[in-house]
Amino acid sequence: AKAAGRNAIHFFDPSIHAAIEARFRLEAEFRAALDNNELVLFYQAQVNRRGEPCGAEALIRWQHPARGLLGPAAFINMAEETGLIAPMGDTVLRTACHQLSLWGEQAEADTLSLAVNISARQFHQPDFVNRILTIVDETGANPRLLKLELTESLILTDLDDSVTKMRALRAAGIRFAMDDFGTGYSSLAYLSRLPFDEVKIDQAFIRQAQLDTEGADRSIVEAIIGLTHSLGMRVVAEGVETPVQREFLLSRRCDVFQGYLFSHPEPVTAFEQTLEALRKA
Ligand code: C2E
Ligand code: CA
Ligand code: CA
Ligand code: CA
Repeated sequence: AKAAGRNAIHFFDPSIHAAIEARFRLEAEFRAALDNNELVLFYQAQVNRRGEPCGAEALIRWQHPARGLLGPAAFINMAEETGLIAPMGDTVLRTACHQLSLWGEQAEADTLSLAVNISARQFHQPDFVNRILTIVDETGANPRLLKLELTESLILTDLDDSVTKMRALRAAGIRFAMDDFGTGYSSLAYLSRLPFDEVKIDQAFIRQAQLDTEGADRSIVEAIIGLTHSLGMRVVAEGVETPVQREFLLSRRCDVFQGYLFSHPEPVTAFEQTLEALRKA
């Protein structure tokens, strides 16, 4: 009886109990957030080699009624595990395409591309292609300015399905970026067979890299840029935080730059001011 009692105590470990409760609460609150428009997009500028803004990445935030502004780290895993990532993804795409169509009417912003992160579960939905095309159509966004960011692990979940869907969306003008390149299996063999327009070097290689001295970090970045260019794709470096990193990447012919050095992710009004400031700089 004593042993059973111990087990019982172990089973009702209050900290585990609290964690389970918190998780259920988070899920319930996230369902409500989807209905109550608490999910917002922040925008981070991307600049070309001359430092002029050429695009943006949309990054999700949750304006939680009690806890304040939450980043994706607080809820993305839960959304993936519960499948709520699919309705979340629809909301993100609709908001991003609506924003693209608004920018399309402003002379200062009508050439900006907008990159949207796509999750595996969302992408591998059977009707993903039609969902996107419907959203583009309904919002009046220019499909040529919409870029979908896919990760290697997403592609590798189902390579054939990925290529089929990418081709169908490309036929409508939509473009693709390979996100977080260099962190996964990064096979050159399949990259060459996939219809990507650009490759984003993962920020781990840029941020912590000792790019100011000769060494392995420099070589990896150089190799990724060389490979990507040889496949006819553009290179985007993300996580660019210092002028030293920018200079190194410029010297190695990186095409597009994204990071705190140029802009933090911001709500749309602040982002539009950042665009103006970057144009004047
Ligand atoms: P990611 O796609 O690799 O996005 C880049 C992350 O790096 C963003 O974090 C951004 O705020 C951050 N970042 C940008 N520049 C710098 C820099 O110079 N230094 C540092 N330290 N960080 C920088 P965030 O917004 O917290 O997003 C984290 C991840 O959540 C994203 O990584 C992406 O995988 C996911 N995510 C964000 N928004 C969405 C979305 O709408 N849908 C989906 N499915 N995933 C999203
Ligand atoms: Ca991304
Ligand atoms: Ca990334
Ligand atoms: Ca990432």
